[in-house]
Amino acid sequence: MRLKIVAGNWKMNMLKEGGENLASEIVKLVSEHKLDNSIKLILSPPAIHLANLSSILDGQTQVSLAAQNVHQELKGAFTGEISASILASFGLEYVIIGHSERRQYFSESDQLLAQKVKAALEQNLQVIFCCGEGLEVRQAGNHLAYVSKQLTNGLFDLPKESFEKITIAYEPIWAIGTGETASPEQAQEMHAHLRKHIAAKYGNDIAENTSILYGGSCKPSNAKELFACADVDGGLIGGASLKAKDFIAIAQSF
Ligand code: PEP
Repeated sequence: MRLKIVAGNWKMNMLKEGGENLASEIVKLVSEHKLDNSIKLILSPPAIHLANLSSILDGQTQVSLAAQNVHQELKGAFTGEISASILASFGLEYVIIGHSERRQYFSESDQLLAQKVKAALEQNLQVIFCCGEGLEVRQAGNHLAYVSKQLTNGLFDLPKESFEKITIAYEPIWAIGTGETASPEQAQEMHAHLRKHIAAKYGNDIAENTSILYGGSCKPSNAKELFACADVDGGLIGGASLKAKDFIAIAQSF
């Protein structure tokens, strides 16, 4: 059975104390609300918070950490970058790769993302691979083909065993940080399409076990109807992950 996941992408937010308080509050609420064991929570803070937050999360099995990015090389003269081997040496479990903001503002191509995925998997990190179309692509009716091509280009060179370490996050760019959410029908259509696309390449078992998250203005008021869709296995949450109560309310929406 595939994992239900609610991951919080803090982006470039949270000063030291705010980040510590947010993580501590989430830990407290998780134990108070006794979240179902089938649900995994992931926090993805700015990288400098990771070591500190791993102490705050020590002993927690339900809450993990993810980096927001990783370099494609394992070491060397790449000032300002962090490699998968460094992340793994700090005990990190997950990394987000291919967020639309990285694709847009840092010109990360599908080919570069494929290299990053490979580097992360070689270090035994689990990958949350983001994909999603812009508004013009959707308006032109090309969204299904566009997003499945992002998966093909970024992931489909992987051997079957490696694909088991991949979680997909479908994030339509027109819904990220805009307050506009994909309707449950739009999310379900894309998620079912991506699952079929994965099945065609890796077989039904792998496809059925791959968690596909929805991201884009997901909040407590709309999470329930999105998570009720058969192929939506949780969410990648931006803005609403910065408030512990909202984040936990979203995790309670399955
Ligand atoms: C995101 O950036 O991953 C995201 C989904 O943001 P928001 O929830 O704020 O739309």
